Amino acid sequence: MASNLDIETYPGNIIKNEFVPTPTTRHSYNPATGKALYEVPVARKEDLDVAVSCARRAFETWSHTTFEERSSRLLAYADAMEENRLELETLQIMEQGKSLALTRTEITMALQWLRAFATMELKEEVLEDNATRTICQTRTPLGTCATIIPWNWPTLLGVGKVGPALMTGNVVVMKPSPHAPYCSLKLGELGMRIFPPGVFQVLSGGDDLGLWMTEHPGIDMVSFTGSIPTGKRVAASCAKTLKRYVLGLGGNDAAIVCEDVDISKCLPKLTTLAFLSSGQVCMLPKRIYIHEKIYEEWKDAMVEFSKENIRTGGGFEDGITVGPVQNKMQFEFVKDMYSQIKTASWKTALDGRVRDDSEGYFIEPAIIDNPPEDSRIVIEEPFGPIVPLLRWSSDEDVIQRANALRAGLGASVWSRDLDRAERMARQLDAGNVWVNSHFDVAPHVPFGGHKESGIGMEWGIEGLKHYTNVRILWKCKMY
Ligand code: NAD
Repeated sequence: MASNLDIETYPGNIIKNEFVPTPTTRHSYNPATGKALYEVPVARKEDLDVAVSCARRAFETWSHTTFEERSSRLLAYADAMEENRLELETLQIMEQGKSLALTRTEITMALQWLRAFATMELKEEVLEDNATRTICQTRTPLGTCATIIPWNWPTLLGVGKVGPALMTGNVVVMKPSPHAPYCSLKLGELGMRIFPPGVFQVLSGGDDLGLWMTEHPGIDMVSFTGSIPTGKRVAASCAKTLKRYVLGLGGNDAAIVCEDVDISKCLPKLTTLAFLSSGQVCMLPKRIYIHEKIYEEWKDAMVEFSKENIRTGGGFEDGITVGPVQNKMQFEFVKDMYSQIKTASWKTALDGRVRDDSEGYFIEPAIIDNPPEDSRIVIEEPFGPIVPLLRWSSDEDVIQRANALRAGLGASVWSRDLDRAERMARQLDAGNVWVNSHFDVAPHVPFGGHKESGIGMEWGIEGLKHYTNVRILWKCKMY
């Protein structure tokens, strides 16, 4: 298959296993250089209509395929991705800005996830079986699923929706973020020679395409990942046609560090996580609560560690943790958050710096020293390399503060005393809670948020269920 790296214009959306060009095109930018990338399609309403009707026709056949057939196609698809992983990695660094190491991790995870989904089957359950009747619980696919993806982990989050949808007998129309459409179009292109026409299609377009998908009467389900405000709009729009939906939304995770930790072991992991991918991950420690007995020692060590180890630069450079902020809009948002350091008089442990002298969207890490609990840096998800350290003294109080926000995606407790840590962890109101870790995920483990961080779960058998309706079959053995 030809490489896309040297083209000027991508040949089209992927509809019914063909490239379908659009009258207008657009491009996004390499966030490390500010340079325009190649042109990609801008789907219109009529393109969506065509894709949906192809999908609905494909569903008639795909929904009757066996588990074995779906599984073997998904495995073949993972192999095709693996054969093309160098190009996927290059595209992803170009469009997203992640470091090479993290990009490789994302592609490796995407392959693992697909191969794991290929083994997952929702089996029929017998709820009752006796002389008079048998009651079975079966699962039926929903139909045409729209998968709407953000720009921060486009490959993993994309296949994390496509795999479960296809394995449960649904067909998919995928919409990448306008800020990061390149890998997703490549993913659609790779599917062209593996899935029957109409089973997996990709449309590139603007935010309005996402809205049209949620409104479209031919779409049966929406699997959405993105910000909380957009998630609310998706839910409201789906309500008009009572579409099923799964929402994976923003987070503002608390990490609670107890006074008994071994700082030399715990701090490098927690600090690296806080700045990973410039903080542009939904489920990172974004509020770090440090027990007052070790607060000063931790703060100094974190500053020293960050200065020595957390390097800012382009994704292709060696040893980078903090890549560029992914797009201009996000760059302006994070810059505004940094400007609060002066205007709101936050104390800094590490100053951070916006590299205004660079063509790329680079911002160096900042650590805010114990800001007020109601300040923007505590209550808003910054999605940038800036993190607050907050002092705490009682277990009860820190749990209450960790749970105080409307976000509830992840949370963690760090301690040598596993019983105490587990006791605290069990009180945290978040979909993913870790003891002595943060951001661990796996394809067989469901992943989702509490409160405004989402509705429903993705991945694992639980995630697969969200792509199905339950059908109860009552088989009465006499009239
Ligand atoms: P976003 O909400 O701006 O956009 C996400 C997607 O929604 C894009 O494809 C966009 O084009 C589309 N969209 C925009 N308006 C729409 C509408 N009205 N209807 C339907 N679709 C619409 O989010 P983003 O800036 O791309 O991503 C960053 C956010 O995503 C952060 O808040 C982050 O925490 C969150 N996120 C959550 C998870 C999770 O699994 N919980 C994972 C990754 C990112």
